[in-house]
Amino acid sequence: MAKLSIKDLELKSKRIFIRVDFNVPLKAGKVEDDTRIRAALPTLQHVIDRGGRLILASHLGRPKGKRVEKYSLKPVAEHFSTLVGKRAGFAEDCVGEAARLKAQALQDGNLLLLENLRFHKEEEQNDDQFSKELASLCDGVFVNDAFGAAHRAHASTVGITKHVAQAGAGLLMQKELDYLGRVIRNPEHPFVAILGGAKVSDKIPVINALIDQGVDTILIGGAMAYTFLKADGFTVGKSLVEDEMLHTALDIKRRAEEKGIELLLPTDHQVVDSYEPVKGEKILAKTIPIEFTNLGHAGMDIGVETVSHYSNALRDARTVIWNGPMGVFEEPPFNEGTLAIANSVAEAADRGATVIVGGGDSVAAITQAGVADRITHISTGGGATLEFLTGKELPGVVALHDK
Ligand code: AMP
Repeated sequence: MAKLSIKDLELKSKRIFIRVDFNVPLKAGKVEDDTRIRAALPTLQHVIDRGGRLILASHLGRPKGKRVEKYSLKPVAEHFSTLVGKRAGFAEDCVGEAARLKAQALQDGNLLLLENLRFHKEEEQNDDQFSKELASLCDGVFVNDAFGAAHRAHASTVGITKHVAQAGAGLLMQKELDYLGRVIRNPEHPFVAILGGAKVSDKIPVINALIDQGVDTILIGGAMAYTFLKADGFTVGKSLVEDEMLHTALDIKRRAEEKGIELLLPTDHQVVDSYEPVKGEKILAKTIPIEFTNLGHAGMDIGVETVSHYSNALRDARTVIWNGPMGVFEEPPFNEGTLAIANSVAEAADRGATVIVGGGDSVAAITQAGVADRITHISTGGGATLEFLTGKELPGVVALHDK
């Protein structure tokens, strides 16, 4: 990589500003899933081992430039201290006097987590003065390890790099760029992409890029599938459809066909008659072939036959990328399709395929299915992963200093 890496930086006794992605789900003031925090630990350990002084900064949720208590990183600091095995300090604000004093008091190997960057609107505005204030906390050394935020040009990812002597990539950032870069440049074939989730419009650029990159098979699940199915003339009832995307869906199908790419859609699905989730009430779902769907049905998950087709399509795969759930993953039993696919991609990895999984729900499915350690690379990015896979340069990476 032509960019500076943490390994090129002088860290001993220096205050290092490290942008991490601790945007983790919280429930009742506790960290619910700490995958992202764990993913940053190698970088933090690297700095601790070399006697650096760590100032960590992250965003959490979307507080929209105001202090919103439920988005405080304080519970994260507590959780995080148990993971690194030493107490991390916490600054109630990411800039200002308190942050400065706590940063100044850091000793070698000590850690300080700053309060949510997005409590200041200047963060997302990439405000220059704010960037300068953040930079003033450290001794001119910045490390970006927040791959999940690299597709955004914010003060803590881009602006700050103008106000430090050295700006390099952390170990997680490097690992992400390395794996994903390899897939884009040189995928081993057969190359299978699995895309799900709700919005076709979000994923169009990715599908197009994958078609250009020579993907062999695309498996579509989640609500996204209904736009394609409706475009094909199927009745999809009350399933979620983006009507303005029907033409685009047909266009994609045509492009795939011209290039000999297999684009598979569900052949059966789990449906409900009327979808109004009532907490605590049992949902009555049934699995039916797609062509049996009536106007009252809402499709919630792929069915067993589809799982079997998709698993077959993964049988000989050498490269697999997966982003997006196959159904309404948050509400069992509509997590079944997604969990089954998690197992199938793990089996593909066992057979030697390079398997990359990105996006919150798919990563959660991998964890829930207990197959995380069999996956080649679990990407901490959702949007960033997809943008990178479409070949776009990520502003947070571009802004790092050249070697
Ligand atoms: P995305 O952010 O586009 O990756 O979409 C993720 C969301 O898609 C999750 O919240 C799922 O509940 C939702 N989703 C997946 N399948 C369906 C479906 N069949 N109907 C409605 N929502 C769905």
